[in-house]
Amino acid sequence: MSDDFTREFSAGLRAAGVVGAGGAGFPACVKAAARAEFVIANAAECEPLLKKDRTLLELHPEKVLDGLELMMRSTGASKGFVGIKKKHSALSASLGEAARSRRNISVAPLGDYYPAGDEQCLVYDITGRVTPMGGIPLAAGCVVANVETLFNAASAAGGPGTEKYITVAGAVRKPATLKVPVGISWAEAVELSGGFGVPDPAGIDGGPMMGKVITDFSLPVTKCSGGLIVLPKNHRLIVKKSAGRPAFSRVGRSACDQCSYCTELCPRYLLGHSVQPHRAMRSLMFSGGPLIHSEYALLCCECSLCSLYSCPEGLSPSEICAAAKADLRGMKKNFGDSELNSGRPVSAHPVREERKVPVSRLVRRLGLADYAADAPYLEHEYKPARVRILMRQHAGAPCSPVVEAGRKVRKGEVVGDLPADKLGCPVHASIAGTVSKANGEFVEITAE
Ligand code: SF4
Ligand code: SF4
Repeated sequence: MSDDFTREFSAGLRAAGVVGAGGAGFPACVKAAARAEFVIANAAECEPLLKKDRTLLELHPEKVLDGLELMMRSTGASKGFVGIKKKHSALSASLGEAARSRRNISVAPLGDYYPAGDEQCLVYDITGRVTPMGGIPLAAGCVVANVETLFNAASAAGGPGTEKYITVAGAVRKPATLKVPVGISWAEAVELSGGFGVPDPAGIDGGPMMGKVITDFSLPVTKCSGGLIVLPKNHRLIVKKSAGRPAFSRVGRSACDQCSYCTELCPRYLLGHSVQPHRAMRSLMFSGGPLIHSEYALLCCECSLCSLYSCPEGLSPSEICAAAKADLRGMKKNFGDSELNSGRPVSAHPVREERKVPVSRLVRRLGLADYAADAPYLEHEYKPARVRILMRQHAGAPCSPVVEAGRKVRKGEVVGDLPADKLGCPVHASIAGTVSKANGEFVEITAE
């Protein structure tokens, strides 16, 4: 490790716009500039039905390992791991073979549970370390990066990544995993997957657990997109995830019996953290106003396990926790100031292993068993007529357009940027063409 290498590598990642490709969109340049003992490639892909990370590892294992090595060198890490579920035995074995020629990289087998890919669960499962309450994996000596992020990091010296691996699954005619230009619409991605398989579809942008419901399929694929799950609009998962705050608060207030199953199965509670969704639910019943004051929600990672699996009443503790966090943010209260922040070291719950939720059981509970078909990789070079490059595709500050309508742009050219002192990355044209629209939300490019 040298400071010069770290500086250059990190600057290269920022210039190439490399961000967390697993959904979070955290700029990779910030992780590359940190100091860590371990770097973990997150290949857990625990969201049901998605398989773009696995596909990428099958297609380009060496490049992902190159990215892992670069990140290790940049952070000064002495050891690298690829965290992948042991059920993918053939891929794990070939990755282990590929890693043998690399110094200090090994494959770490994971159980088939949700959320194995939660970064704090991953850190614990691989290193045995619990991330301190309110901290990030770096506080446990670890940098965690999605495998596609590492793939893009290894490619960054050759220019920005302008393509995205995604899975389109559920109620489509031919579920598929695809490589597509960033900025194509979800409707185009569905078309590449054979078209809608139901007359009145809705989609979940991301995995079924943490993704957001969309009904407007003209929305674009971004650098953080993991995939789209298409379902009938009246599927119970779509209906549940579409409920607004007034509805889930009202039902929660009247129906929660305080059984505490939501807490007992919460993956962060089982790591020893002070998150207790049943207490957040309890605060609904005693709250004198519309705001939720429960600090027991502050360390919730919004994995949705409590709402979509644990609660026997079908209530929405995850959404209540998210609402409480937003309310507390508005009141300028954070975990650092909370009485729950005892500062004491925490340890995982003694029965954590027994309480892990198998993905197969989760798939049945979500009503997705009929949609759990394979989504094979579809080799296809898609040339869109136009793309929309969103100005916000990462954590931090949004970009502003640096091109105007009528301007010709090259593939890979910067079309949106932000000041160097702000958290974020530039965004790039994914096709060559002419800018047809540019505003604070997106730059639209029409192909040549
Ligand atoms: S599991 Fe459901 S009913 Fe039980 S405490 Fe949690 S929200 Fe209430
Ligand atoms: S969403 Fe629910 S289960 Fe997940 S971390 Fe938050 S409280 Fe725990």
